[in-house]
This record gives sequence, C-alpha cells and structure tokens, in this order.
Amino acid sequence: MPSTKVVDLAAHPLTAWRGPLGLPDFAHIGDGDFSPVFDAALKAHEAEIDAIATNQEVPTIENTLAALELGGEALDHVSSIFWCRAGAYTNETIQALERDISPKMSRHFSAISMNEKLFARIDDLYQRREALKLDPETLRVLEKTWKGFVRSGAKLDADGKIRLAKINEELSSLGTTFGQNVLADERDWALFLDEADLAGLPDFVKSSMAEAAEMRGRKGRYAVTLSRSIYEPFTTFSERRDLREIAYRAFTMRGQNGGASDNTTVVRDMLKLRAEKAKLLGYASFAALKLDDTMAKTPMAVHALLDPVWEKALEKAAADQKELERLAAKAGSNEKFAAWDWRFYQEKLRAEKFAFDEAELKPYLQLDRIIDACLDVATRLFGITFQEKKGIAAWHPDARVFVVKNADGSERGLFLADYFARPSKRSGAWMSALKSGYKLGHGSQPVIYNIMNFAKPPAGEPALLSVDEAKTLFHEFGHALHGMLTDVTWPSVSGTSVSRDFVELPSQLYEHWLTVPAVLEKHALHVKTGKPMPQALLDKMLATRTFGAGFATVEFTASALIDMAYHARPDAPEEPLRFEAETLEKLDMPGTIAMRHRTPHFGHVFAGEGYSAGYYSYMWSEVLDADAFAAFEETGDPFNPALAERLRKNIYAAGGSKDPEELYTAFRGKMPSPEAMMVKRGLV
Ligand SMILES: [Zn+2]
Repeated sequence: MPSTKVVDLAAHPLTAWRGPLGLPDFAHIGDGDFSPVFDAALKAHEAEIDAIATNQEVPTIENTLAALELGGEALDHVSSIFWCRAGAYTNETIQALERDISPKMSRHFSAISMNEKLFARIDDLYQRREALKLDPETLRVLEKTWKGFVRSGAKLDADGKIRLAKINEELSSLGTTFGQNVLADERDWALFLDEADLAGLPDFVKSSMAEAAEMRGRKGRYAVTLSRSIYEPFTTFSERRDLREIAYRAFTMRGQNGGASDNTTVVRDMLKLRAEKAKLLGYASFAALKLDDTMAKTPMAVHALLDPVWEKALEKAAADQKELERLAAKAGSNEKFAAWDWRFYQEKLRAEKFAFDEAELKPYLQLDRIIDACLDVATRLFGITFQEKKGIAAWHPDARVFVVKNADGSERGLFLADYFARPSKRSGAWMSALKSGYKLGHGSQPVIYNIMNFAKPPAGEPALLSVDEAKTLFHEFGHALHGMLTDVTWPSVSGTSVSRDFVELPSQLYEHWLTVPAVLEKHALHVKTGKPMPQALLDKMLATRTFGAGFATVEFTASALIDMAYHARPDAPEEPLRFEAETLEKLDMPGTIAMRHRTPHFGHVFAGEGYSAGYYSYMWSEVLDADAFAAFEETGDPFNPALAERLRKNIYAAGGSKDPEELYTAFRGKMPSPEAMMVKRGLV
C-alpha cells in the first residue's frame, strides 16, 4: 500500500544516523518504517539526478561526476540497513518488503543508467577526458562510469531500453524469490533425533544439535539442520549411514522439493532473461557480458584456469576414493560407496593417516580467541587497533560493535559482527558495509560488518569452531579489512568495489595468517586448561592442510564449471536441471561427490547477479593469494613490515582506484602463474 505519511529524511532514524558512535539508532527503527522511507528516499534521489541531468552549465567533474557519486545518501542509508536485516535478521514483513523493494530499486537504477540527458553529460566529460588532465583515480572513475552506463543500455534505442529495464526488474524479483525459497527449505527442514541416534558424534555436534532443536521448540531432542555448521559435522561423524543419507539428500535437494519453494522454473526464467539481456547489449553470451570488466575478461581465460585444475582434481579424487572404499570395506560395510559416505570415511582416513581427528582441534578454537587472533593479526600487519563497545544496540542483540583506530589513535571507522546462526538469518558468511569509506565531499568513515552462521552454544558455554569455520572467520575479516583500510577519494571505487575475480584476494590471503604458528600459539588456547595447542597437534594440523584436496577441489570446480556452462552459451537451456546433469556427465563428475552448490540453491549465482558467471573468481583469487602469501614466506617473516606496508597500500587500501593487475604487480613485482595455487591445494 503506498504510504501517505510525510517522511522527513533529515530526521528519520533510518536515514539520519544519530545513534551512538554515529550508527543508526536501531532501537527506534520499526519494520513498518522501511516502506515509506524507501519511497521518500527514492524520490529524493530522483530529484538529485534530475538536477544533475538538467543542469544548464557545461558538465564538469564537480557538477556531474561528483554530484552523481555523492547523490542518493538517504537511499544508501535506508538500503544498507534494509539489506542487512534481509540477510541477517529477516521475518515475514521484511521478506514481503524485499519482494516489493527489489523491483523498485531495479526500476530506479535502470532509469538512471538510461537517462539520456545524464548520459550525454557523462559522455561529454568522457570524450574530453584527455583535455581535462584528471588525476589517475578520477580518470578511472570517469571511464568506469561511462562504461557502466553503456553496459547498462545507455546506447540502446527506446524499445531496447524499455525491454532491458523490464528484464532487469524481472531478474531482480526472481533473484529475491530464489533466495527466499532456499531460506524456506533450510528453515522448514529439520531431522529431530534422540540420544540413541547420536553414535559417533562429538560433544560439540551434540550440543549444537540440542540448541538447534530447542530453537525450534523441541527442547530435549537433537536437530540435524541444513546449516553447514551442523550438516557438515553431522555427515562427517555420524555412524548412522541411514541418517547421513537422509541429511545428504535434504541438503542437496534444497530448492528442488516441489511446491511453492521450488526454484526449478525460477532458474529457467533467469537464464533465459540473462541470455536475452546479453544479446540486447551486443555480447555473445551472458558470461561474455559479465566477464568484460573482470581480470579474466573472457570465458576462454576462465576455462584456461579451471580445465587443467579439473583434470588434476578428478585424478586425485579417484585415488582418494579407492582408499576410502578400502576403509569402508575394512569397517565391514557391504554397501556401495556413496556420496554420504565420503566425509565420514575421509575423517576416518585422516585419523588413520595423521593419528588425530578434527574434534581434537576444536577445544583450542574458541570463537572469542579466534576473533582476537583476527584483530591481532590486523594490528601486527597494518597498525590498526580495535576496541569493543558493549551495550550498543545494532540490528540484533547478538551483533557486536568495535571502534577501529589508526596507529596514531585517530578514528578510522567501525566494525560490527554477528556470529551465530538463527532461523531468521540466511546461510553462509559474508561481509558488507553500512557505510563505505571515501574522501570525496565531506568524506565518510567506513562502517563494515561481518555475518557468520556458527552454531550457538548453550548459555554460559563458549562457542568452539572447526578449522574450516575459523578460516571462514579470517576470510570474512579479510573482506572487512578491505572495507576498513580503504583510502580512496571516490565512493564507487571504495573498499571491495573491485573486479569480482580480484575481490577474494584480500579475504583468501588473510586466511593464511590463521595457521601461522605464532598466531596459533598465542590464540589457540584450550577452552578448559588455557594451554596453547601442543606443537605435535599443530604439526599434524599443518600436515593435513592439503588432505582431502581431491574432494574439495572437485566439489568447488564442478560448481564453477556448471556456472560457466549455463552462462557461456548464447541461449538458455529449457530444462536447467537436466542440463546440469548432462553437463556433469560430460565432465565425468564422480557420483560420490556432490557439487558444493547445486543449481536449485546456488545462491552465489541465482540469488542476485553477484557471482553469476563468476563463481570461478574464488579460484582466480586463490592463484593470487597463494602467490601473495609466498611473498611473506620468502622473507621468512609472516609479518614482514616492508611487505605488509606494500600490501596495505596496493591491495587493502587501494580499492578499485587502479587496474587490479597494476595493483598486484605494484605489490609483488609480477603477475603469478597457477602453480603456487595447485601446490597449495596439494594437486601437484
Ligand atoms: Zn569471500
């Protein structure tokens, strides 16, 4: 229903942030506020755009490019809070609003990128760019803006523009539906078990399952849920093959269960619209369109990375499977080795080979200590410090607030983090910004946040992490640092606004410091005794780093290859799930390993456009991060100050202010080859 209330954007808590530390005053934001404030903020932004487009003065950087970049502040504010809530703390009201707001936002931004008068002014500046004698960052922002307009249809004829706007709007709605459907399947499915069903499960899994059951109103029982924090350890440790199979099937069928939350036709429609969009804009395929402004640039370059990795991964996985089958036979299993056996026997093999199991590490990986480790590494590398502020309201009581300071004590920004899973949060882990950092105009300090989905421990008990979860914490904190350390002038190249296959470099690189011995010695302290992880356990953990590489690489690369297969063709498959199956068959995908993300729940690719034709980016960035960390190893000092300063300046602080190849080369002296990544993964 359209709102009739008049909203004062200069005073409303969603747009005028007057809470403590300059945060929004979350305590005074109601779910009912979003809709009228969005409407008012969209109007205000439209008026700003109109003023820029119809300005009678000759276009200048100030009156056009800067005005465009600094416009829409109220809309940015309400949007950032809304999308934070939609991901981290949603409910039916927020979900309904999301379905309403996504197409509205799409229409709004389509109208801007197709505004002819506005584009004429940008084009005028672009044509005169040499004569304007701009500094390199401003020149880059102008060029990117101009290209962005063209890629969004600024040069299409009137009919083309109308069609493209319609396509974008539909894609945006479908992406929202896709994400909500997956959340619905994850929320609605739980397997409630009793004490007698828990054979093989370590205590930490049992207590997470007890907590999950209680959250779902079944106190006293144990729930297997589809949260990775429970699903993965359950299928790793449970001796009940029948239950592992049930959990596996539920996990891999998310989004494909028939009924209202089924994503089959959503995916089909999205792929069709994407193919049409690419054609309209003059590209051979949607992948060609998406890759145009990445480091990889073409589908061919992506395959040049993925294909050889795939071959090696298949060989490695086949060899691994033989060993797992041997173990299964030894354990007396007569059943044919299946996908729900892989994690279970892989864990047994790990125990046999390295004489230790994952669960031994867990008491040393306390969430609070690993958070300290994340912050401490940032201080040692980059000089910034963190101070937690208790009692400050954010979007949810679990969210924590940290003030970030520069080495000289001046304020740099804020970091917020919300660590525990709950049914109102979508799965996965991510970083985002309530506000990005930049110097243009009055400037802005970054307010960055991390969302995790760790199983919440029962009240009074410390949360313990698996190694993978600790890595995820470092990963997302690496993204957060990219946002917090940013030192650029222009908002549109701030922080993580970089080419998508470069954006995982700061995050994946940061993961390397988790296993630096000095970091573990200081922060991996036993939950009961407070003693550091024994050297022997540490050595075993480091020795197992490449263990299971066949499985991990196959599950990842299969998803990346399917993503490319969907998007590198000029048209769209009529039946995407059949296409998925046929493509996997052509690739010789082992039946005993599932894709890390199957199509009907592949949120990276379908819940929005973020990683569509872009899931490969993780591996692309891995080539960079393996080589970048090797730079530190070569000096013998994981905190080498001169190198850390080059890293800060050229990678973490530079955002998208320069071409990524130029940035990487400035840090390392040259571009890497994939070998370091293959070695790191244990594939060669
Ligand atoms: Zn990431």
